[in-house]
Amino acid sequence: MVEQLPLKQWVPGSSPGGRTMARIYNKAFFGSKIVPVKEASLSIASSAVLYGLSVYTVFPVCITKKGIVAFRLKDHFKRLIDSAKIIGIDTFEKEWNENKFTKAITELIKANKIKEDVLVRATVHVDELLPGTRSRGLHTTVSMFAYGDYKVLPEGGASLKTSVWRRVPDYAIPSRAKVNGAYVNSVLAKQDALDSGYDDCIFLDADGHVCELSAANIFFVRDGVLITPDTASDILEGITRRTIIELARGMKIPVVERKVDLTELYIADEVFASGTSALATPVREIDKRIIKNGETGKITKSLQKKYQEILHGRDPKYTRLLTVLK
Ligand code: PMP
Repeated sequence: MVEQLPLKQWVPGSSPGGRTMARIYNKAFFGSKIVPVKEASLSIASSAVLYGLSVYTVFPVCITKKGIVAFRLKDHFKRLIDSAKIIGIDTFEKEWNENKFTKAITELIKANKIKEDVLVRATVHVDELLPGTRSRGLHTTVSMFAYGDYKVLPEGGASLKTSVWRRVPDYAIPSRAKVNGAYVNSVLAKQDALDSGYDDCIFLDADGHVCELSAANIFFVRDGVLITPDTASDILEGITRRTIIELARGMKIPVVERKVDLTELYIADEVFASGTSALATPVREIDKRIIKNGETGKITKSLQKKYQEILHGRDPKYTRLLTVLK
């Protein structure tokens, strides 16, 4: 029996005042081997701890008929490499490749005897001690851990609040790089939304255009067209976002990526959030405006269904996105 550590998390909108639990599996990959999660730790003098100088990704690992699979591993690895490159962390790419990354994930999954769908968080920590505020030529350590039952948004529909905090722009801390330190921006905005009784925020950029939620991308439907902020809108280039766009095009739903005004969301036929943890969660209300009749829209439902099918290898057209871990 593999011990699991409970992780407490608030989701006020889904169950008033209630907590939902996630479970962290107790074996982590750290450096080059599997260790108990409690022993996978960084120095208080490391850049990762001092400045949040780490880049990370989270991806789904699912149980399918073909075995345990990781979803879009190639893309997640590439985004880690790209994030490191943007920040100037240049040691990771020299020491890691996709093959080594896949092997580490496989070790993690085996060590924890995973028998359910989980999420895996993989992080590249800059753990050089006290190098000052710089990034090149510094020692990095890769960590990975798995967790289950994690819900960032209520499945039945989220209520969102436009944040008083603006998204960090590309010219300050690029959202395109998934860098841990930048998540203070998300924490500020999410906590502001929670404090006001909402489930999450909508981030606007400095010009007032819509970016994304605290940890998910946003889509909306108007007159049958699926619209989402473009990749120059200070968003994280979400891998679920890319998947949703591909699925929609495959289903002959027109997709447009462009600048988005907040009020377009208020009057949309459907709005949903996309992300590895958020899946494709419908948005029920924004700033007290109920979206359509508050029910999950047709296009959202069909994309949710298709996404679950491809995650679990039930659509042969998309099995190329799955890496069997063996
Ligand atoms: N935006 C932000 C800020 C995020 O943290 C996430 C979650 N990783 C996303 C969007 C969605 O990205 P993905 O689909 O790759 O999980």
